[in-house]
Amino acid sequence: MKRILLTLNLALVLVSLYFFVTDKNNLSGIHAVSKTVAELEDVAVADEPVVSSGYATIKRTVEKDLQKVFPNLTISGDLKEGRMDLIKKILFDLPEDKLQNLFTFKITQIKGNNRGLGGTNTIIINDYNLSDEEFSAVLVHELGHAIDLGGIQGSPAAKKSAFNDGPNPIFVNDLSTIYYAYSWDDSQKKRSATNQLDFVSGYAMTNPFEDFAESFTYYYYHNKDFKKLAQNNEKLALKYDYMKDHVFDGFEPQTGQGDANPNRRVWDITKLAISI
Ligand SMILES: [Zn+2]
Repeated sequence: MKRILLTLNLALVLVSLYFFVTDKNNLSGIHAVSKTVAELEDVAVADEPVVSSGYATIKRTVEKDLQKVFPNLTISGDLKEGRMDLIKKILFDLPEDKLQNLFTFKITQIKGNNRGLGGTNTIIINDYNLSDEEFSAVLVHELGHAIDLGGIQGSPAAKKSAFNDGPNPIFVNDLSTIYYAYSWDDSQKKRSATNQLDFVSGYAMTNPFEDFAESFTYYYYHNKDFKKLAQNNEKLALKYDYMKDHVFDGFEPQTGQGDANPNRRVWDITKLAISI
């Protein structure tokens, strides 16, 4: 009996060690991402709860559809009902070739944590108290980071640019540097004579990467408004055209009301009302 208990204990130790190591690996993977530009948006990490069985079937069906277009992508975490359909709709709308480096999409529900994180290969959405609309907007914002950092890349054969994503250099042949240079000298410093109206939101003024992700979200969900603001602002005209030509391959969604005030900017694009 003692021997059985001992074996059982040993087995338990081994099992917990396995989970500890696995979890540690997960955390270190995410930590590497959080050290990038998305640090501001904080990391939300949780155990992966089991999806309720009814919804699990829907999740599997949608997952199969997504797998055909995004074979590298794994979606995990605490998914509320209906979320997979929203995710599918958004992912299928975006340029698929620029999302092939997105491997990990994790969903958590943790009170008090920030709503999202996006990096080269990973996005995390903290779906705590988010409406369908806010979930969608935060997802698009984080996908904007994934496209900027993982989908549009330069090569180490080229020189390093003035921009860097945390410890990771961004090379001069990375097309995102064209976008960054409209308003930024480097990853922190805005160009001289930069005006707040040159940005789609207050949050876009944080750094070049948030500038990109906010414009990306604005282009996708408020296209008519972005177009209107671009008529009155030279930098926004450049940013609109960049999104159209280099990110969305000419696709202009017929979204938004087109009644944005040209002399004001909101703080956060993901808080604006949208129709999904
Ligand atoms: Zn962001």
